[in-house]
Amino acid sequence: MNAQCPTCRYIFEREPGYFLGAIAIGYFLGVSIVAALAVGIRQIAPTLDWEWCFAFALVFYLLFTPIVFQYARTTWMYVDNWLDPPSP
Ligand SMILES: [Zn+2]
Repeated sequence: MNAQCPTCRYIFEREPGYFLGAIAIGYFLGVSIVAALAVGIRQIAPTLDWEWCFAFALVFYLLFTPIVFQYARTTWMYVDNWLDPPSP
């Protein structure tokens, strides 16, 4: 991730620890995706134990981590700019 936007020079990390909120968003996104994947796996294989459904869902979720990481940061920046707009 760039430290600054190459076009408008907006600084993405406004302060140290700025992306702590993105971690929370990423956590909830990850839990939601894993739960949905586990339910989907359970639908495909109804005799499989829930523990195995979640284990397979966690492994499959690893493919989504780069996407979730980016969306969590982007979502956090939108929320933060909405709540606390930067001074011009
Ligand atoms: Zn920009």
